Amino acid sequence: MVAEELKFLVIEDDDFQREIIVDILVRLGAMKVTEARTGTEALNYLNDEKQNSIDIILCDLNMPEMDGMEFLRHIGNSHSSIATIIMSALDGALIDSVRKMASAYGTYLLGAIEKPITPANLETLFSLFKSQDIKQRKELNQGSLFTLGEILEGLTNGDFAPFFQPKIQLSTGKLIGAEALARWVHPDRGVIAPYAFIDLLEKSGNIDILTFIMLEESAKACKLIHAQGHKISISVNLSLTSLTDTKLANKITRVVSESGLDPKYIILEITETAAMTEMAPALENLARLRMKGFGLSIDDYGTGYSSMQQIARIAFTELKIDQSFVREMTTSNVSKVLINSSIEMATKLQMKCTAEGIETKTDLEQLKGMNCDLGQGYYIAKPMSFENFLKFCNQSLSN
Ligand code: C2E
Ligand code: MG
Ligand code: MG
Repeated sequence: MVAEELKFLVIEDDDFQREIIVDILVRLGAMKVTEARTGTEALNYLNDEKQNSIDIILCDLNMPEMDGMEFLRHIGNSHSSIATIIMSALDGALIDSVRKMASAYGTYLLGAIEKPITPANLETLFSLFKSQDIKQRKELNQGSLFTLGEILEGLTNGDFAPFFQPKIQLSTGKLIGAEALARWVHPDRGVIAPYAFIDLLEKSGNIDILTFIMLEESAKACKLIHAQGHKISISVNLSLTSLTDTKLANKITRVVSESGLDPKYIILEITETAAMTEMAPALENLARLRMKGFGLSIDDYGTGYSSMQQIARIAFTELKIDQSFVREMTTSNVSKVLINSSIEMATKLQMKCTAEGIETKTDLEQLKGMNCDLGQGYYIAKPMSFENFLKFCNQSLSN
């Protein structure tokens, strides 16, 4: 995405600094730049305007009257599909906590940069801007695209299937497994990603229907790939809400055993974004799953509430660094430090460390240099149908 196609709003109380930023934007090719001196002025503009014509907001943190924190809260509440960049002269650690706050408020944060702003660090952030993300967020804001009834009907009709995204060993490039990601292969609307159905299924207590389709299909797929001589493992996502049912571990074990696959080839990924409310049954399930031989992975590591605590409580076998840190690795020192310390911690705890969201060769090389074990991301391969994944396995494992 180039700057000339985008509309910017710059909020900065200092006239001189604002002028510098506008100047950089113009030099980068921007044609439409709106300026505001205060958060209130900016909000009035956004509320006034005909729907969302601003693409990217650049916002100073330290401003009189309404500071950047308050402004981000308002953006999260009423303009959450506009991408925002925080600019500050404050230190990286503080910027990082503002970043967390912003995402908790639902703001679409493109990134945070320390002042002085340079054309290069702005350009890197612009390159992250994807109109696709915006489209998804707008749809999310308008409420779900589908009703629960339609989703359940799709599940009953067998329209849901796992797509597989390869995972490789970074040091060798060798394929070691794949993550199974749910896709709704809709008869009229094509392939639909999880943001359109997971939330509704979780909230309505129906997520297990999908989980078991994913498990069954993944175990079957894994068996077929093993039969071709490739002993890879498949990762399946598990919702935190499913873990409150103390029968879950046994149900999962039964499904996988019935397919004839050794549970050690299935890794269950658990996201730690929500605080676990019912800790005891979740721990019972996870302990039992480990006992049966399943791998346990802590997904989106670094975005949750009680990361350290959970690792101490549960015998996880893998830690997946969230893609937001990988995305910011080259622009944010804090992200880089966090990645480094996560890798170090995983190694000390004898867990595998996987980096998600590897989009460039530079990302891959940097992570390899940091001794991260495994990697997954568009640069390696996008999620694909089983048919294509089988071809991918045969290609990458035969040479
Ligand atoms: P996740 O488990 O963290 O999965 C990784 C997501 O990142 C996937 O999105 C994948 O397509 C995407 N991704 C992979 N590499 C890259 C990259 O290089 N760049 C970018 N920008 N994205 C990349 P997807 O398939 O849309 O899934 C989103 C989330 O939905 C998953 O995040 C997972 O939390 C949830 N999900 C997916 N399938 C299931 C499922 O069967 N059950 C449950 N409970 N949740 C699922
Ligand atoms: Mg996952
Ligand atoms: Mg993840």
